[in-house]
Amino acid sequence: MLDKDIEKILVSAEEIDEIAKRLGKIITEEYKDKFPIVIGLLKGCVPFMGKLITEIDCHIELGFMDVSSYHGGIQSSGDIKIKKDLNIPVKGRHVIITEDIVDTGRTIKVIMDLLKYRGAISVSVVTLLDKPEGRVVVLDPEYIGVTIPKEFVVGYGLDYEEKYRNLPYVGVLKPEVYSTK
Ligand code: 5GP
Repeated sequence: MLDKDIEKILVSAEEIDEIAKRLGKIITEEYKDKFPIVIGLLKGCVPFMGKLITEIDCHIELGFMDVSSYHGGIQSSGDIKIKKDLNIPVKGRHVIITEDIVDTGRTIKVIMDLLKYRGAISVSVVTLLDKPEGRVVVLDPEYIGVTIPKEFVVGYGLDYEEKYRNLPYVGVLKPEVYSTK
């Protein structure tokens, strides 16, 4: 049913499986003695984080934050709000932030600076998608699933007005979905 709103698939379910396996292996190797906190930024992180953590073969702790930047539309507002804060201390810990997509980089930059200020030993970023053309701050995620062009995408956690997060792939919406609002 949701497929009918999609113009094209950018990253297939099979590709996402491979990405999770590849990044999970690298993270396992780099963090095997560090017991990192893997922090998901809600709600977009849910599908990718769920898949990624099952590919990490060392001890990790999970944490979540709810940070908003887009407010449901297709343009970044640049206004970042922490709606739900982390409930575990990061002081003296290694932290890996898990994102669905890094676009302007503002959201991650704010969270990275906050976690460093709170005393994390290291803060790295793993993201399913990277849109480097959209960047307005200096930020290079350590672990990137796939780099995509500056297009508005939905699926695998990414929404348009809270919908399409449950698509099993990442795609581009048909223009009429926006115009028939
Ligand atoms: P940034 O702060 O890097 O500009 O944006 C990060 C957040 O903006 C992402 O977690 C996501 O919620 C939203 N975002 C950025 N690009 C897209 C996109 O192409 N599609 C959707 N649905 N959300 C996006």
